[in-house]
Amino acid sequence: MNIALFLEMAAGAAPERIALVCDDAGETRRFTYAALYEAARGAATLIRESGAEYVALLDESSEAAVLALFGAALAGVPYVPLNYRLADADLAGLLARITPCLLVGDVDRVRRLHDNGANTLFQRADFVRAAQAATPIEEADAGLGVAVQLFTSGTTGAPKAAILRHANLASYVIGTVEFGSADEGMGRLVTVPPYHIAGIAALLTSIYAQCRIVLLPAFTPEKWLDLVAREKVTNAFVVPTMLARVVEAIRGGHEADLSSLTALSYGGGKMPIELIGEALDLFEQTAFTNAYGLTETSSTIALLGPEDHRAAKASSDPKVRARLASVGRPLPTIELEIRDDEGHVLGPNEAGEIFVRGEQVSGEYKERSALTADGWFPTRDAGYLDDEGYLFLSGRADDVIVRGGENISPGEIEDVLLAHPAIADACATGIPSLEWGEAVGIAVVPADGHECPAHEELCRLVRERLRSSRVPESSLVVETLPYNEMGKLLRREVKTWFAR
Ligand code: ATP
Repeated sequence: MNIALFLEMAAGAAPERIALVCDDAGETRRFTYAALYEAARGAATLIRESGAEYVALLDESSEAAVLALFGAALAGVPYVPLNYRLADADLAGLLARITPCLLVGDVDRVRRLHDNGANTLFQRADFVRAAQAATPIEEADAGLGVAVQLFTSGTTGAPKAAILRHANLASYVIGTVEFGSADEGMGRLVTVPPYHIAGIAALLTSIYAQCRIVLLPAFTPEKWLDLVAREKVTNAFVVPTMLARVVEAIRGGHEADLSSLTALSYGGGKMPIELIGEALDLFEQTAFTNAYGLTETSSTIALLGPEDHRAAKASSDPKVRARLASVGRPLPTIELEIRDDEGHVLGPNEAGEIFVRGEQVSGEYKERSALTADGWFPTRDAGYLDDEGYLFLSGRADDVIVRGGENISPGEIEDVLLAHPAIADACATGIPSLEWGEAVGIAVVPADGHECPAHEELCRLVRERLRSSRVPESSLVVETLPYNEMGKLLRREVKTWFAR
C-alpha cells in the first residue's frame, strides 16, 4: 500500500474534519482532510513537473513538511527530510547525495552550500501556495518503492541513508492503529523534528486514524503546555529531555492544564527512572507508554503500556516496579531475539544484541542491506528479555567498553553514579589504555548546590557496587554533557574530551 492512500482514504471518509493545525509566527492555520489531500495532489504535480528524483525538506515542521511527504508519495519519489541543525559541511555532503531534488525550506542556505542548478527550490510558504494553485494529479497510484529516506542521526558514526519502503511504513501503521478510529475530539501534538522517524510515524498513524494533528515547530516547554491547553490535546509523544523540561516548567510555576491529555508516549532514548516517576505523579490522568524503536524499523517495535506503568507505580513488588526501566514487550507483529557475538540465540535474562524481524523492519540502507540472509535486522542495541518477555536495554553495542576483552556496558556505571545525590548527569566511555586496550573514563555533572565527589570517591562508589573492571581510570567534572535534539547523549564527543 502506498502511504498516500492513507490520506486519500481519510479525505474520503472525513473531508471536513480538521487534519492539521500549524502554529508559527503568531499565526494559526488549519487544514481539513479534504484541503490537505487536494494540496498534496497539487504538490505531486509540482514534483512531477520538476523532474526531481527526491523531495527534500530543510525546515521545521509545518504544513509544507506534510505536503512534501504526501506529495512525494503521490509522485512516486522518496521524501528526504534533512537535519537543519547539521554543520554546513555535513549538510553539503548530504545534499550532493540527493541531487536532483525538489527542496522545500531554507533555500538561501542550500544555494550557499550546494548550488549546481539541478535542484528546484521553494521557500516554505511559496511551496504551500504553489501546491494549492497547481492542478492536482488525478491518479494516486505511484507504486510501492521507497517512501522515505532518512539519514540516521549519526550518534555512532557517519549518517547512513536508511530506506523505508511504502510496505514497511504501511505495515507499521496498519499494525498499530485502526482506520478512522479517532473520535472528533482527538488531537495529537507532534513536536519531534520532521527528519526523525518518530515525527513521520506520528503523522502517518494520526492520518490513518483521522485525528487532528497539532504541529509545534520549535519546542519549548511553555509552548508545549500552552498548546496542550489551547488545542485540548489528547495525545502526545516526547523524548526524555522534552519531558524533563516540561516537568521543570510545571514545577517552576508555568500554568498547566493537562486535563485533556489522556495519553503520553515517550521514547527515542533512555528515560531516567526518577523522571518518569515524577511525571506519573504530576500527570495524574494521563496514560503513559514507553515506545522503543529505530529509524530502520519504521519506529516502534516494543511498548511498555499504560497498565504496566500503573502497576509499577502502585505495586510494592520490586519486580513489577523494575519494569519501568524496561521498554516493555515486542509488538505482536515483531519477532525479537537476543543473540551472542557468535549469533547463538540466548535465553531469558541473558544479555546480547537485539535482532528483530517483521514487515515494518527495513534494515536497508541506500548503499547496502543490513539484514541477515533470513531477514533479521541487527539493531546494534544490547539488552535482554526477562522471563516474562519484558525487554531491557543495556546500551548500544557500539558504545560497549572493551577492557582487556571484557565487555562493559556504560549504562551500568552511569546508573551507579546517578544514584549519588551530588551527581546530576554522568557518561562512561572507553578511553585508550596501553595496558587494557580500553579503560573506563567518566564525565560527571555535579548537581546544583553540590560539590562533585573527588575521583577516589567516585571510584569507591563504583567499586562498592560493581566488578573492579568497571572502576574508572580517569574522571572529568563538567558543567553539561552534549545531547542532540532528540535527547541522545553524544558519547563520541565525550570520548574526545579524554584525548585532550
Ligand atoms: P545512529 O544510528 O546514526 O547512531 P540514532 O541512534 O540516533 O543514530 P535512531 O534510529 O534515531 O538512530 O535511534 C534509535 C535508537 O534510539 C535505538 O537503537 C535505541 O538505542 C534508542 N532508543 C529508541 N527508543 C528508545 C527507548 N524507548 N528507550 C531507550 N532507548 C531508545
